[in-house]
Amino acid sequence: MTKNGKWVLRHRPQAALVETDLDWVQEALPELRDGELLVRNIYLSLDPTNRIWMSDREQYLPPVQIGDTMRGTTIGVVEQSRSDRFAPGDIVMPAMGGWQDYTVSPERMTRKLNVAPGIPLTAYLSVLGPTGLTAYFGLLDIGQPKEGETLVLSAAAGAVGSIAGQIGKIKGCHVVGIAGGAAKCDWLTEELGFDGAVDYKAQEVGAALDRLCPTGIDIDFENVGGAIMEAVFSRLNRNGRMILCGLISAYNDEGPVPGPADFGRILMQRLTVRGFIVIDYLARAGEAFADLGRWIAEGRIKWKDHVVPGLEKAPDSLQLLFTGQHDGKLLIRVSDEP
Ligand code: NDP
Repeated sequence: MTKNGKWVLRHRPQAALVETDLDWVQEALPELRDGELLVRNIYLSLDPTNRIWMSDREQYLPPVQIGDTMRGTTIGVVEQSRSDRFAPGDIVMPAMGGWQDYTVSPERMTRKLNVAPGIPLTAYLSVLGPTGLTAYFGLLDIGQPKEGETLVLSAAAGAVGSIAGQIGKIKGCHVVGIAGGAAKCDWLTEELGFDGAVDYKAQEVGAALDRLCPTGIDIDFENVGGAIMEAVFSRLNRNGRMILCGLISAYNDEGPVPGPADFGRILMQRLTVRGFIVIDYLARAGEAFADLGRWIAEGRIKWKDHVVPGLEKAPDSLQLLFTGQHDGKLLIRVSDEP
């Protein structure tokens, strides 16, 4: 009998996730009921927000409960179907596949993917998936970029940042990325067309921004928080916007996340600081995928997927997001593509 291997939350991590915060469990697969599909997961998306879901801090979805399968987004193939709308062999995205080999997915919560020729399946969890939506709506809807404006992104060589920066270039912005290490910075300027890059591990960020953004900063696409956010925020021009996408530097800590030291700048410089969560934009996903698909076809958007083989590696691999030792959208290969 086929068993389902899965990661279950044993207790809430105290700081960075360690493997003993989760249990590896194997269980028999349940019988399908009418309207359900058995999906064999192929790729699992690892996201910084996974660490938030493991905590019981205030968040935008209910925390994963102790003893529950770890939540996560997957792409898989239908192996059994008790739905008229899906057939074995269909490639699908269950609503929340989870950190597990198989997902029993209700048909109404399952999206069929039409994989375009020449596009790797992994792209549907990255540039043509939640990552692309985050970059697209964060920059265009919240940031409202105008031609000639200066856009600075933190975690710029990461999954979201690298796409958002390229959209900024398409919209005519002067784009500067902040990333860890010379190789990532070179990729931004030499491959993706960014106008400048700051290696925060080797350079003083504020001085580098002064040099690379001579007219100040109009838009901060904020992914990191802390000292990096402070350096960008304190250089925002009048009517500047902070797109508050993420605060990854604080996800392993408990307690409130500090904001910019000089709150008064929001008043004096008429700044807009606006947080957003990509799930609020799912109804408009088609808009984003149409533009992103076209830009990919035109060669104006490039991306990288970093695939780690083996679901057993999921807890260790999540750490790569916090050390930056990954290169592009971080995914786990759970099983082979059909
Ligand atoms: P990335 O691929 O960007 O990986 C995370 C990156 O963050 C690392 O590569 C590292 O970049 C950087 N980083 C981690 N810790 C620190 C630190 N202490 N200081 C500086 N940089 C750090 O991940 P994603 O693209 O998936 O996510 C990027 C951000 O977007 C996260 O904050 C995430 O929570 C947010 N997000 C928000 C969504 C929303 O709906 N609001 C949806 C999806 C993501 P480097 O190697 O350059 O150091």
